[in-house]
Amino acid sequence: MARINDNYLRLKSGYLFSEIARRIKEFQAAHPDAKLIRLGIGDATRPLPGAIVQALHAAVDEMGRAETFRGYGPETGYEFLTELIAKHDYGARGVTIAPDEIFVSDGSKSDAANFQELFSADAIVALTDPVYPVYLDSNVMAGRAGAPDSRGAYDRIVYLPCTAENGFDPPLPDGPVDMVYLCFPNNPTGAVLGRAALKRWVDWARSAGAVLLYDAAYEAYIQDPDVPHSIFEVEGARQVAVEFRSYSKTAGFTGTRCAYTVVPRDVTARASTGEAVPLHGLWFRRQSTKFNGAPYLIQRGASAIYTPEGQKQARTTIEYYMHNARVIRDGLETAGLTVYGGRNAPYIWLKTPAGLDSWGFFDKLLNEAHVVGTPGAGFGRYGEGYFRLTGFGDRAATEEAVARIKSRLKR
Ligand code: PLP
Repeated sequence: MARINDNYLRLKSGYLFSEIARRIKEFQAAHPDAKLIRLGIGDATRPLPGAIVQALHAAVDEMGRAETFRGYGPETGYEFLTELIAKHDYGARGVTIAPDEIFVSDGSKSDAANFQELFSADAIVALTDPVYPVYLDSNVMAGRAGAPDSRGAYDRIVYLPCTAENGFDPPLPDGPVDMVYLCFPNNPTGAVLGRAALKRWVDWARSAGAVLLYDAAYEAYIQDPDVPHSIFEVEGARQVAVEFRSYSKTAGFTGTRCAYTVVPRDVTARASTGEAVPLHGLWFRRQSTKFNGAPYLIQRGASAIYTPEGQKQARTTIEYYMHNARVIRDGLETAGLTVYGGRNAPYIWLKTPAGLDSWGFFDKLLNEAHVVGTPGAGFGRYGEGYFRLTGFGDRAATEEAVARIKSRLKR
């Protein structure tokens, strides 16, 4: 009989969201008339900006005419898009990234999950805790994580705790590490790192010979002008970092699917011979072997984000979500909760009230306020005692949810 990749058996099942769904179902069966409000959503809910819709329509028409039809495109993305990215997302911030250092894809989830393939099977991975689960699970599948203990911690992963005590600013690893996943603005904590903190990481990676896998999926939510949007705003990062960017939360592309990864030509890792090998060539090889490029239509749609109307419309949507985040943040603070995030990120990370763990608070909100959020413990051990809410909901529903939470917690 064929043998499976046993590493898949080491994955913890999709416990978090299936357990949330189970508890909601049970609640709804017992309270069929209750109007539930979901503030746990990590998905865009506002429609695509009009400029993007127009560009998509025009591209569909091009595909319907023999003279303008397009078949396979470049695996790494059309130049009309990579040039816009290089100019607007980097050049405008004083960062030089060449268009051919940009790899357009169908999403940051796949890029962040696939990038680990370039590293040796026994490379040591460090992750923040709590964490976006894709970084961990993709390394578990590759056999790099080792075995989980009874609390679900893998013995070959280096966990970097991010808690209120350290301001959700991960400590540098204190042992050997080959690759580190960093995500700022952070999902789930909503934390950002300033220039000095990012520089500390770049300096460490340079001296440790490590690679930073920097996920900037939420950079468009940064409000504070001093917070860098890209790891490449830090000197020396070109030699040690790759960056994942996504249009999902920037322009409502969660269902439309387009993202990109920046792999500078200078970033290298070591072959078993000792030779320093550029990751750029390896990622190019990986993508051109296993990926055939993001659809032409979608890349045309993404290009429209960089038009003046596209920029304005995308910004309006981000402001809508950030206003929701502020409503949640201010409302919960008034209710006496300790609240983090929500200033440079759509995520609000709150400390559960005394006596309640993550799931205890989930049940309380569900049963008493009919509001659904996400228990922090689902993002890692150090997420225990925290809870995530998001600004991605409808405005009126968000206001109503906050009013309900305030009235319940006051009792
Ligand atoms: N990175 C982070 C931190 C995320 O939270 C998400 C989505 O929730 C992604 C990446 C995935 O983005 P995409 O929709 O581009 O696959």
